[in-house]
Amino acid sequence: MPTFVEVALPVPLRQSFSYRLPEPLADRALIGARVKVPFGRQQLIGLIVALTDSCALAETQIKNVIELLDDSPVLPDSLYKLTLWSARYYLCSQGQMLTQALPVALRKGADAAPKSRQSLTLSPAGNEADAAVLKRAPAQKKLFERLQQGPLSLDEFSAMEFSKAALKALEDKGWIARLEETIAPDLGWRSELTLDETPHRLNQEQAVAVASISAREGFHCTLLEGITGSGKTEVYLALLEQVLKAGKQALILVPEIGLTPQTIDRFRRRFRVPLAVIHSNLTDNQRLDAWRAGRSGEAAIIIGTRSALFTPMAWPGIIILDEEHDASFKQQEGVGYHARDLAVMRGHLENIPVLLGSATPSLESLQNALAGRYHHLQLGERAGAAKKVRQGIIDIRHQPLKAGMSQPLLNEMRQHLEAGNQVLLFLNRRGFAPALLCHECGHLHECDRCDAFFTVHQSLGEIRCHHCGNQYAIPRQCHQCGSTMLMGQGIGTEQLEQALKQEFPRFPVVRIDRDTTRLKGSLESHLQAIQRGDFKILVGTQMLAKGHHFPDVTLVGLLDVDGALFSADFRAPERFGQLYTQVAGRAGRAAKPGTVLLQTHQSDNPLLRDLLHRGYGEFARSQLAERQQAALPPAWHMVLFRAEAHRAEDADAFLAAVAALLPNEKDFEIIGPLPAPMDRKAGKHRRQLIFQARHRQGLQQVFDTRLSEIEALPEAKRCRWTLDRDPQDLL
Ligand code: ADP
Ligand code: ZN
Ligand code: ZN
Repeated sequence: MPTFVEVALPVPLRQSFSYRLPEPLADRALIGARVKVPFGRQQLIGLIVALTDSCALAETQIKNVIELLDDSPVLPDSLYKLTLWSARYYLCSQGQMLTQALPVALRKGADAAPKSRQSLTLSPAGNEADAAVLKRAPAQKKLFERLQQGPLSLDEFSAMEFSKAALKALEDKGWIARLEETIAPDLGWRSELTLDETPHRLNQEQAVAVASISAREGFHCTLLEGITGSGKTEVYLALLEQVLKAGKQALILVPEIGLTPQTIDRFRRRFRVPLAVIHSNLTDNQRLDAWRAGRSGEAAIIIGTRSALFTPMAWPGIIILDEEHDASFKQQEGVGYHARDLAVMRGHLENIPVLLGSATPSLESLQNALAGRYHHLQLGERAGAAKKVRQGIIDIRHQPLKAGMSQPLLNEMRQHLEAGNQVLLFLNRRGFAPALLCHECGHLHECDRCDAFFTVHQSLGEIRCHHCGNQYAIPRQCHQCGSTMLMGQGIGTEQLEQALKQEFPRFPVVRIDRDTTRLKGSLESHLQAIQRGDFKILVGTQMLAKGHHFPDVTLVGLLDVDGALFSADFRAPERFGQLYTQVAGRAGRAAKPGTVLLQTHQSDNPLLRDLLHRGYGEFARSQLAERQQAALPPAWHMVLFRAEAHRAEDADAFLAAVAALLPNEKDFEIIGPLPAPMDRKAGKHRRQLIFQARHRQGLQQVFDTRLSEIEALPEAKRCRWTLDRDPQDLL
């Protein structure tokens, strides 16, 4: 019998911890079960990763396991292996990765077993008792007589308006016993699948895609590159039908649930099967229910955002990532895992197909597809009746602008509105104005904790920093010269909305950004109102660019995109290409032809020309060639060290010490230490160091040997530092 366990704990230290197993637990403990253990002055819940007979720690140092929480592993073997693999890949502790993989309720110690139902029944004493003694207590008598007929579930008890006081009184008499029974999952969907609507007849390209994916057995990864409206979702639905018919489950990952209610509806409408939806607005218990439904096989379809990737499946059938290029699949805080890369690994471990779909694939997936590591399928035709869009550039140099809009754009808007259509304007800056300027001395009001300007929010009467959340009432006087001549500089969505209401009083305007959709359900109700045609002009940020289907939008205008063309981030052109193509894809999705107009001071910009003339597909391929030339990801492999400290020297000293430990020869490259693009944030100085390797394996080997030395550096204690493998965002 083992006497000790190694436990992975949710702490950043990259190691596991030894504990002694008290006698009664020794024969029940097993790898993958949760335990509660003392850690410093707290108690933590961790996962057993090894059972041993000996322990290197001195007898006095080793502590006992407090409690064993599971009789079987909480994660199926495939997911357990996935967390092991990803802890090594993302250079974090196994405990941290396991924490990502478990719902909060389980991390806090909730029961992982299937849901159970409590019911009431008569105790032996109750069975002996006589109802006549309850003559003066009619409520007790009523409940008692009901129980004489058989057990009553707690749900029925509440639904049937029995008295709680009566229950308590009968329990006090010792007449009642409580039964607990696990509810067997309802797996009816596995034996018979009913379609609630007749699928579209697939067009040639769709049919080829479905046939070639379903023809292969076991693990394989496919990139489905299909322009907006080409019918990718229809392909997912057709594949799902086959998977469900075989009695297997599907896991579908989407960027943001709130942004894709229409997509979820399509799955609901097609299949009469239980569906678990997992997103960040669920309570811990709802999330646990969804997790259990996946694990028991009760949920046929699991659809969710990034973290839903870790939902267990009893009968795994397929994993689909929609909008696979979306940056939200990469976690930015804590462990920086990428759900797309882990989905591919999970598919491999479960031996099931993985499908990545996008109109604008990431360069990472495109490279894998072009290199033959992924199957590559393309949909080039718009499905159904949709037409191709007309696109144009408006050169706004020397042109008068009204709240950022040029006369040609306003004219075009008027035409589309008069014709009864909807117009969508895209501006990626929320708030009233992106800066507060003093007209007298030119001072721009900057956040006192970040290298960033305050955004003016007129309707709230506040200036806010979008980077640290700092906020103040709009000042009356300039902080530098005391003048009262303060004005907003630049245009945000709030100001644009105001100006549009004046310019087009007959056409109702709706604004969609993080400020107007903060309340739960407000985005859905806005979207429904747009569908009904209650609004004619739609103003919004990125949120409006994603996935929505607006059949009456015929004109899309992009207002201020020059910033995106100049960003220091090497991914900026790729991101811009994706954004432009996605926004443009909102135009003319139904029977009506669409127009896209882009305002810029950079009408000759070669990137822009390339994108507009050749389309995203070609643009992305030439971007990929440039990345290869420049030895940047995805051609090379990158790890970003971030360090922040109150004194910039402390961050620099740590990164310099890290750099000294890393190889700097022909297959590797070290850049930095350098100030981060946003040098100061929330009062701290930020520095970074980029390490690149030509080969993924080479990079892994460096860290397998060096990581512990890096952690042990004395300089590491004087700053806060993190590691980000395959960083998506260099800010
Ligand atoms: P995507 O996911 O690529 O944007 P969708 O699957 O949403 O495309 O399809 C766009 C529109 O075309 C939807 O309204 C869909 O119902 C319709 N559609 C898709 N495939 C077909 C088809 N084979 N026949 C007719 N209409 C189709
Ligand atoms: Zn001033
Ligand atoms: Zn700030």
